[in-house]
Amino acid sequence: MTALRLHKIGISAMAGTLYFLTSQVSQTYMVEPYGVAAFCWPAAGVSTGFLIALGPGARWPVLSGVIFANVLDNVLWHHVVVGQQLAYVAGNVAEPLIIAGLIDRALGRNFSTRRVNHILGMLAAMVAGVSVVSTFWTVIFKADLSLSAPAFALWENWFASDLIGNVAMAPLVIGIIDAIRKPPPQKELFEAIAAIAVTAAMTGVIIALPQPLWDTVMPGALLFPALLWLSCRCRPVFAAMGAGVIILGIGWMTAFGLGHLGDTNLPIDVRIKQAQAIMLFVAVGAAILAALFAELRQGAAKLGQSNAMLERELDNKLINIQAATASIAHEVRQPLAAIVTSAETGLRFLNIESPDIERTRVILKRIQEDSQRANEVFKSIRSVFSNLDQSRHPIDVNGIILEALSSLRDVLQVHRVAVHTDLAPDLPSVEGHKGQMQEVVLNLVHNAIEAIGTMGSQNGRVQIKTQIHSRDEIVVSVADTGPGIALERMTSIFEAFVTTKSQGMGLGLAICRLIVERHGGQLVATSDGKTGALFQFFLPVPPKN
Ligand code: ADP
Repeated sequence: MTALRLHKIGISAMAGTLYFLTSQVSQTYMVEPYGVAAFCWPAAGVSTGFLIALGPGARWPVLSGVIFANVLDNVLWHHVVVGQQLAYVAGNVAEPLIIAGLIDRALGRNFSTRRVNHILGMLAAMVAGVSVVSTFWTVIFKADLSLSAPAFALWENWFASDLIGNVAMAPLVIGIIDAIRKPPPQKELFEAIAAIAVTAAMTGVIIALPQPLWDTVMPGALLFPALLWLSCRCRPVFAAMGAGVIILGIGWMTAFGLGHLGDTNLPIDVRIKQAQAIMLFVAVGAAILAALFAELRQGAAKLGQSNAMLERELDNKLINIQAATASIAHEVRQPLAAIVTSAETGLRFLNIESPDIERTRVILKRIQEDSQRANEVFKSIRSVFSNLDQSRHPIDVNGIILEALSSLRDVLQVHRVAVHTDLAPDLPSVEGHKGQMQEVVLNLVHNAIEAIGTMGSQNGRVQIKTQIHSRDEIVVSVADTGPGIALERMTSIFEAFVTTKSQGMGLGLAICRLIVERHGGQLVATSDGKTGALFQFFLPVPPKN
């Protein structure tokens, strides 16, 4: 049996099992006269979530699991006739297909629970898919089954319970699949578990609240801080879990007559409507809040990164290179052009039969002045560069690498890039400027992370190695598993303002090369243009006295 087939069977088993388990939970909410799980049908969200997360390729594995779970569920609970079972199964298969199909069509294969417009698109697709299927069931069941409820009430309940199930469960399933692909950092996991426990405790408090208190205490007020905490600090899957806990509690309250929502003096219709309203509010609210905060976090992380980089570059007075390069082009072009024009005119005065010595002298004087002007420009540029701190001290390159890595810890974690170090324990120290050398390492590792990021793979690796290259030279190597660099770009990447990044300045490598060369070393790059890039810089080791 091929690995692919095993993989598909695994997906089918997981989807089917989760679908069956969630359908069994909601069967405890089964209420007459609707003959359906009247609050919410989370199983619908399971199949939708699987299809959205895994794409059309997983259609048959997921749907076969769903069909199997449906048949088992019907056998266990309904004992209805075969025709009705078929109608149930058809609706439960069609619904996720419609929703995932609409999302695929509108948003492509990059659906993300971290984007507000994707969440809104998902909600619209769910409303459409659930409407179609609820109408189908109402028509079939009203014509065929002795359900006493009016047709619209039936439709409304199917619509509400499937919609809530989808909104509550699909982001959770998508998030779990995403978390399996890219596990969250341990810190986030612990924080999320704590916040979900608080949410569960709060739901418990609401259930246990004495009746009179319901008039004065807004239950939502109790839940809101915890849900906000989850949405704000953790990835969307955990907010979906928190919402799931609340929905479960509300369902139980209504079904088992607990608390206000279980007040048996109120007609069951009213209690169900109340419960559904809260469930929908909580599920939609949690999904939107989580997406909003996820977007905010991403923006803040980007801003933090560019700020830190800018600060470092300013610290080392390296940013001046940009101004210097621009001023070279601007300032030198003009006197040089003037010199060329004057020289041409002077030659013309000398090339005639009786050369005009006086006018030629004026021209030569002008050339002298223009040359002096160009010289001044170069002097001023040199003064800009002399701002680059030239002080030299013995520096420990291994220590600099470890410090740089520790400051990049968060960036590495966010991009899920693993770093392997292989640092020579007996590496001799070199003479140099610690801050500038750190800038070189940071730039190279940053570039490696960004290069890996363009591949969209989760197993990116950066390897940093230090070695004694010869008796008087050490070498630092930074290798990555990114896309590499094409041969024809190998030299241009070291030029200023050459970049392939939308936000890039194209100065990083130019600055790195400048620094390394100012330390008497050399920075080189090698790549096969396919399986990553290797940047190496060689630094001289000062002779021992
Ligand atoms: P910037 O980071 O602003 O783009 P750099 O001078 O640091 O400027 O890099 C110039 C270009 O070299 C980058 O835009 C990228 O195309 C290429 N580059 C640098 N490092 C790598 C790497 N490790 N793998 C692939 N390409 C790289």
